Amino acid sequence: MSIQIKDVQTILTQPAGSRLVIVKIITSDDGLYGLGCATFTQRFHAVHTAIEQHFKPFLIGRDVDRIEETWQMLMVNGYWRNGPVLNNAISGVDQALWDIKGKRAGMPVYQLLGGKCREGAAVYGHAGGDTPEAVVDSIRQFEEQGYRYIRCQMGGYGGKASTLVKPEGAPEGAYYNRKEYMMNHLRMFEHIRAEMGFEVELLHDIHERLHPIEAVGFAKDMEEFKLFFLEDALAPEDIEWFRHIRQQCATPQAMGELFNHPHEWTPLIEGRLIDFMRMHVSQMGGITPARNVAAFGQMYGVRTAWHGPGDTSPVGHAANLHLDLWAPNFGIQEWCRFPEHVYEMFPGLPEVRNGYMYPSDGPGLGIDIDEDLAAKYPCANEVIGWTQTRLPDGSPARP
Ligand code: MG
Repeated sequence: MSIQIKDVQTILTQPAGSRLVIVKIITSDDGLYGLGCATFTQRFHAVHTAIEQHFKPFLIGRDVDRIEETWQMLMVNGYWRNGPVLNNAISGVDQALWDIKGKRAGMPVYQLLGGKCREGAAVYGHAGGDTPEAVVDSIRQFEEQGYRYIRCQMGGYGGKASTLVKPEGAPEGAYYNRKEYMMNHLRMFEHIRAEMGFEVELLHDIHERLHPIEAVGFAKDMEEFKLFFLEDALAPEDIEWFRHIRQQCATPQAMGELFNHPHEWTPLIEGRLIDFMRMHVSQMGGITPARNVAAFGQMYGVRTAWHGPGDTSPVGHAANLHLDLWAPNFGIQEWCRFPEHVYEMFPGLPEVRNGYMYPSDGPGLGIDIDEDLAAKYPCANEVIGWTQTRLPDGSPARP
């Protein structure tokens, strides 16, 4: 019997740092609904409007089973495509439809994808501090909780600049100094490896803050520290430079959290220029394209490492996890460690034990939302500060 989409709702909530956007698709079958993550924390009103004003009228009355057809039509129905905001909105709808299909089948989504390749997904946490010693302390705390993969940053992205010489009248902002960042982080990794040896898997995120030629040199200098991966060495606008990094060193490259368009990841995978694909599943269009690109990467020896920070909602993390459990070429899963009240708000939120993430037993994505609790944490309207990044001369830079 065919079941139709009866209503599409958008739930906005900010239980921790990030403004979350959750899509709830209500069906004509009493009590059957699906959840998806459409979070774009910095521009959540735009996604909300896209879903409510443009997608809802398009979706109502459609067959919930036709995920692929709905996805293909949503992508082209607005004519212009493959940008943020609309991709986020499509991701939310797509994940909610997979959730519904799983509930209809009485199976978790990983079963619909082909079944498990593994029982749990290995995760990495974010260690940090203001000095190399503090970073080592932070790594040890993660190790005590069973983490074996740890990302290390000192003073946040780009480091904390101490030798800034700004021009007179330079505006306020999140300043950093590329040269100082590179020097400090090379010293930091030297210290970590001297203290801890080479057993623990270390990761680092450049956050696209270097000039391309600096990134080539930095990736080469980092080779001796044997990272699990170096992330976002280049900006999406500079991806042709990956070829030069490859020619210089064997530091594994992870890339893709900012990607919108298939033309951004296709040449990197095909050219075997990256080792891990980092696309944001709640931004690239959802489970449907993520499944396709995972299979594509598998043919080229490229592993998955889906973006998993705090501005992916718990529903988005559940979607990541179902892909992780299935994908033959799973690499690693980023994990942000939500506070306790977020577990209360999202019953079935995946749990991490001894460095592995596990899903709940529920069908579909296996996660729900307590809407009354979500309403107690409304989204704040604010101009985001941390993305107002500046170079020493005061000019704007990538965050
Ligand atoms: Mg990153």
